[in-house]
Amino acid sequence: MIAREDERLQVLRNLRLLDTAPSESFDRITRMAAKLFDLPIAAVSLTDGHRQWFKSKVGVEHNSIPRIKAPCARVAEEADMLVIPDLGADAHYADSHLAASGIRFYAGAPLVTSDGFGLGALCVLGTEPRHASPDELAALHDLAAIVMSQIELQHAYGRIDPVSQLPNRTQFLEDLDDLALGSVGAKRLAVLVDIGRMDQVASLTSIHGTGAVDDIVEAMARRFQDEIGPERTVYHVGPTQFALLAPAEIEVQAYLDTLRMRLKGTRSEVTTHFVMTPAIGVAPFVVGRTTAKDVLRTAYSAVQVAYGRADSVSLYSEASDVSHSRRHGLLASFGSALVRSGELRAVFQPRIDLASRHCVSVEALLRWAHPTLGPVSPAEFIPVVEQSGLARPMTEWVLGNALRKVADWRASGTDLHVSVNVTSSNVEDVAFVETVSAMLDRLRVPAAALELEITEGTVMGNTAQAVTCLTGLRSLGVRVSIDDFGTGYSSLSYLRRLPIDAVKIDQSFVRNMVTDEKDHSLVRSLVGLSHDLGFRVVAEGVETDTDRVLLERMGCDEGQGYLFARPLEASDFPLWLDAFHAPARVSQRRELVELTG
Ligand code: C2E
Ligand code: MG
Ligand code: MG
Repeated sequence: MIAREDERLQVLRNLRLLDTAPSESFDRITRMAAKLFDLPIAAVSLTDGHRQWFKSKVGVEHNSIPRIKAPCARVAEEADMLVIPDLGADAHYADSHLAASGIRFYAGAPLVTSDGFGLGALCVLGTEPRHASPDELAALHDLAAIVMSQIELQHAYGRIDPVSQLPNRTQFLEDLDDLALGSVGAKRLAVLVDIGRMDQVASLTSIHGTGAVDDIVEAMARRFQDEIGPERTVYHVGPTQFALLAPAEIEVQAYLDTLRMRLKGTRSEVTTHFVMTPAIGVAPFVVGRTTAKDVLRTAYSAVQVAYGRADSVSLYSEASDVSHSRRHGLLASFGSALVRSGELRAVFQPRIDLASRHCVSVEALLRWAHPTLGPVSPAEFIPVVEQSGLARPMTEWVLGNALRKVADWRASGTDLHVSVNVTSSNVEDVAFVETVSAMLDRLRVPAAALELEITEGTVMGNTAQAVTCLTGLRSLGVRVSIDDFGTGYSSLSYLRRLPIDAVKIDQSFVRNMVTDEKDHSLVRSLVGLSHDLGFRVVAEGVETDTDRVLLERMGCDEGQGYLFARPLEASDFPLWLDAFHAPARVSQRRELVELTG
């Protein structure tokens, strides 16, 4: 019997009804019950461990009464109707809490789950002794069944996430609306936790399948619920997002500090298994004034800002919302840019072999002419796209367009190589090697004519999959280089272990080389050490002839920069190439560069 009572309580608590705000959908039924009996009091009363708690009520002030000697408790225990015509004359209930508060008549219909657990009662109460007709009791029974199906429907359909078993976004929005039934004007904080960036989730899915994401989501759901305790609710509001309300009347800064501390623990736990970086957004709102959808939207905006912060926690601010909106807008329109023709194009910047002074290769760089915003800088849109699910289609777009152009140029007799920038999503993608191989075949470009550039930052967070991918690319014959080399914190001995062919020294070092002695020696040692390790060295940002001479003396293999050419439109490239290779003095070449620049 005790075991059954424990189970019954568990069932009740799992429904997550206890201590939730009043809800119009239940109040409607309670009002009908009171009207049906023409009585002042009715309630949906749930039997908790030591109390009868009212999910809905008319004519009662308090939210609960003690369970002991409460008729509703007996209705729940026996899962049967109970009518007490006169509590004052009833041997058991005459000294009950209800009788003491002036109640004389009681009728209750049980709220029974489909598994047979009695949760409580739908009851009507009167202050005068009374009888109940069979018709009245049948109607009360029906209303109780409606309450019960509402409870079960709410629980089962569309409100509970099947993976985490937590209430979902619909429930979160509804509970926020219901908060306004109790405390309009109160200031509260909504917290949104995202357990990993979109590109990280995509990588995890492509390596381990959707089951792996579900496992993490399930584990995190349990963890969040354990941390905040059974009395408070965690909602599963997006594929990898959880929301909760901070306790009422909490001090904002202190609360943010607590979140930062907790996140640190979570982060080390999550990252031991996968590269996932959780972030938390906190959105202040005023109960009854801020719409539920706005609460969720602003919390989501704060999460996006949090992703760019070192501590990964951010409080919503309108200013950052504006820049987030722009990024969001860019991302939304980038999706259409990928499928509409005319918005995106690849431009090509020559890479020059410094010893022979020949153009040996071109780097494909993406350009975007937005239909309303005009040209958008890659420095603005690439980081946004790189963190989204569009990173892969973007690389495929550039690869396809770059290879097609290079195939044309090669067909007209120019032995040219091309390099294309790739993102961390690509190297985490198990299908990437296959995609590249198929494209090379289709466009008839030899693998040796393609180089893929991956930034130093990306290889630093490398996983086993990234290394497998780079190895796979190289076994196709594709070359791999480290872009923006020197800006990350990787050591050369670390890079030595990676399957790469070349490093591209970042332009920030090259730019100051002439004036800054330290940068000069740094570039010289980077060139020397890279050669010792067997890497080819490319210098980015070669802007002056002095840069070129210095680099050539250092033995740097290739140079790329405005000295030779700015990124060129595909249609201008053959002309530039002819002129560059025409026997001419260097100074004439420079004039030409100014012309095309
Ligand atoms: P990156 O791959 O390091 O490309 C070199 C950037 O330096 C290009 O900027 C180029 O225009 C610029 N540059 C070249 N020579 C000089 C010079 O002499 N002086 C100066 N000051 N700048 C020079 P861009 O085209 O604006 O691209 C910026 C970054 O955006 C690229 O840096 C790359 O990380 C990213 N990006 C561009 N296109 C793509 C793409 O198709 N895919 C990906 N994933 N990233 C791309
Ligand atoms: Mg590059
Ligand atoms: Mg670079």
